[in-house]
Amino acid sequence: MLYFDIRSLEAHAESVDGTLEASDPVWQEDDSRPVQAGVHVVGRLSSAGAGRFYFSGRFEGAAVAECRRCLCEVTVSVSDDVHLIFAESGNDEAEEDDVVLIPPGDRELDLRPVVREEWLLAVPAFALCREDCQGFCPSCGADRNSEACTCPPPSDPRWDGLRAMRESES
Ligand SMILES: [Zn+2]
Ligand SMILES: [Zn+2]
Repeated sequence: MLYFDIRSLEAHAESVDGTLEASDPVWQEDDSRPVQAGVHVVGRLSSAGAGRFYFSGRFEGAAVAECRRCLCEVTVSVSDDVHLIFAESGNDEAEEDDVVLIPPGDRELDLRPVVREEWLLAVPAFALCREDCQGFCPSCGADRNSEACTCPPPSDPRWDGLRAMRESES
C-alpha cells in the first residue's frame, strides 16, 4: 500500500512497505515502466510539523532497457534512496523547491506519483548487455556477437582526401 490517511499520519508515523505495480494507472504512456514485479518501496512516513510530512525510504525494481550497441533487450536493476517533504498547499512554507505539495482537501497522502518520478529519474537512458558487447557491423549489419563478418575495418574518413589526391596523380 502506498497511500496513507493524512489525519492518522499526524498522530503516528507509518512504516511503508508497498509495491507500485507495473500496471498502476499512475504510469504514463511513454514511461519506462518496471518489469512485472513492480517497484518495491520501503521506508517511513512521519509528521514533520503542521501540515508537513517527511518520507525517508528506498525503492527497488528492474527495468528493460535497450543495449546501445546491439539493441537487444537488457534487464537492469534500478534502486535509489528517497527523502522528501510533503506539505499541504496553503502552508506558508510550501513554496520551497524540494517540497511536494499535497493538493488542498486531500485526505490521503499518495506516494505513487513521487515514486514514479523518482523511478523515471533513476532508470538509465543507456545500457550495455555486457561490457564487451561487439554490436553490429556498420557495413553489413551482422551482429558481431554471434557471427564474424569479413568486412574490412571501416576506413578512417580523414584519409579520404589524401587518397583521392594520390589516385589523381598516378
Ligand atoms: Zn549488446
Ligand atoms: Zn560486416
